[in-house]
Formats: sequence, C-alpha cells, structure tokens
Amino acid sequence: RAKQLGRGRYVLFDETLARNAVDELALEGELRHALLHGEFVPHYQPIFRLDSGEVVGHEALLRWNHPRRGVLLPDDFVRIAQDCGQLEAIDWQLFGQVCKRMAQPGAGTGFVTINVSPQHLRHADFDRRLLQLLERSGLAPTRLLIELTEGALLDDPVLVRATLERLRAAGVQTALDDFGTGYSSLSYLHSLPLGKLKIDQVFVRELDPAAAAGANTVVAAILALARALGIGVIAEGIETDAQRDALLAMGCEFGQGFLLGHPGMSPYGPDDDAAAQDGRSGPGAP
Ligand code: C2E
Ligand code: MG
Ligand code: MG
Ligand code: MG
Repeated sequence: RAKQLGRGRYVLFDETLARNAVDELALEGELRHALLHGEFVPHYQPIFRLDSGEVVGHEALLRWNHPRRGVLLPDDFVRIAQDCGQLEAIDWQLFGQVCKRMAQPGAGTGFVTINVSPQHLRHADFDRRLLQLLERSGLAPTRLLIELTEGALLDDPVLVRATLERLRAAGVQTALDDFGTGYSSLSYLHSLPLGKLKIDQVFVRELDPAAAAGANTVVAAILALARALGIGVIAEGIETDAQRDALLAMGCEFGQGFLLGHPGMSPYGPDDDAAAQDGRSGPGAP
C-alpha cells in the first residue's frame, strides 16, 4: 500500500512478512485470530539506575507468539495492524496483561512503561480508559509510565496536553520516547507534563569516551536540556561498556539495552521465564 511508504520504521514489515496484497490479507486474518487466542504478549526489558546497577523499572514490549512464524517483533506487524484498525485492540489487550502482571504480589515496586501510539492517544477517552484499567488491575497509577513519540505531541497539542495533564493528576507519568529522532520542536518540552525523556539509541550508538572532546555533544546537550527542565533521562540501546561509561560520566541517570538486559517474558528473572515457557505458571496453572 502506498500509504505504508515513507514511514521508515515499519518498512521491515514489507520486507519480511507481506510481500504482496495476498500476504497482507492473510495477515489481517491472522491478526484477528491472534487477538482471540492470546498470541500477543508483553516482553519486559529492565531499566537500570546506571550508577548503582539497580533495576528501577521495565519497558513492556509487544510480541506476537505466532503459531508458525515464531515470535514476531512490532516492526513486523504493527503497521499492518494499524492499517486494518486492530492496533488499539491489541494494545489494550497488552496493557491489561501488563498492569495485571505488575500488580501481582512479588512484582516489586518498580515502574513499568507501555508504548502508546499517536492515533491511540488522540482518542477522547484514552485517559479514562487507562485509569479504569489501572483500577481494575490494582496497579498503582504511580507505577505506570506511558511512552509517547514526538509525533504524538504535535498533531493535536491541545487535546494531548489535556490528556497528559489528567493522567499526571492521577499519578501516571509520561516519557518522551526516541527523543531527538522526531520532528524535534523544543517548544513543547517545557509546556507539557513530561516526567522522563528517552535518548534514542542512534545517539547512544555513537558514544565513545575515547573520542575527542565534542564527539558526545548531542547526548550532552540532551542531558543539559533535561536537567534544566527537571526531567529524568533514560538512555536506550546501551550495548557496550564504553557507552554505559560515557553516559555515566555525563551524568545520565537511567538506561536500558542489551548490555544490561534483553527483553524477556518475565520481569522477575530467568527462573520465572522458564516456568512460564513450559506453561507451569500463570493464571489457570495447576
Ligand atoms: P521503542 O519503544 O523505542 O523500543 C525500543 C526497541 O529497542 C525495542 O524493540 C527493544 O527491543 C530494542 N532494544 C532494546 N535494547 C536494545 C539494544 O541494546 N540494541 C538494539 N539494537 N535494540 C535494543 P522492539 O521491541 O522491536 O520494538 C520496536 C518498537 O515497536 C518500539 O520502539 C515501539 O515504538 C513499538 N512498540 C513496542 N511495543 C509496543 C506496543 O505494545 N504497542 C505499540 N503500539 N507499539 C509498540
Ligand atoms: Mg519505547
Ligand atoms: Mg525508543
Ligand atoms: Mg523506537
């Protein structure tokens, strides 16, 4: 479909799953089936305090346990799910699982983040529905953060600000995802109720403590901006010790990435993962 072009982040889908209209149609049917059969699940990637190495929270990331194709990543199907109007249903089902899981005894006191797409946020009853979900699951609103990209803030700033302010009043924080990669307009930063800023991995990838002074300017500038605005910073995509050390030296407080922890089926650790994998745990287990 022509409207899929020019949206770079979902281009992988075109290359891997749906090469033509017939494939797309099949996939639409599979999405509907998947919703009914619980094939969409969250994986949890730990978020660390960089100086102490303590886990402070998790990011919930959407996965599709496809019966034949294996575990699919969002880039493989989110775009088509959106196009055929199923992304919201998938997201609400996922958010429900996340809140329920994090509210369980033993899930600790850390925060959990969920990724909310721009179209989703613009629904007039998004905040009401989210607060209802929290209430039903028993998860304290102060333990939830919603991750939004810059694009989500620009389309309808008045509506978005009102929504975020109502959520903040209830205790739900907002994190700005992939910061620096979107239609960067710094003007909204101070006017919106943002609790956290996530530095995109493209900037983290370029960090090198051995480089000449000036090489880390972008990250340093983002950190200075966030500090001035009183917003916490999470660095994404930390893959090497050098990157973590550079971030630490620059005063970045939080981070996530393959060096520190991969997304996994359970926020509690590998033992629980193994149990969940062979079906011995979870609701309805003997
Ligand atoms: P994002 O929110 O920016 O998520 C970060 C992505 O970076 C995740 O990919 C994560 O697995 C990956 N990542 C984490 N650490 C590293 C690292 O050290 N190196 C590298 N190269 N990558 C790392 P994932 O899970 O494939 O998600 C891709 C995007 O899909 C997310 O980007 C988010 O925009 C979207 N997404 C994820 N979950 C959901 C969801 O529940 N609903 C919706 N609507 N979108 C979602
Ligand atoms: Mg995210
Ligand atoms: Mg991100
Ligand atoms: Mg991203």
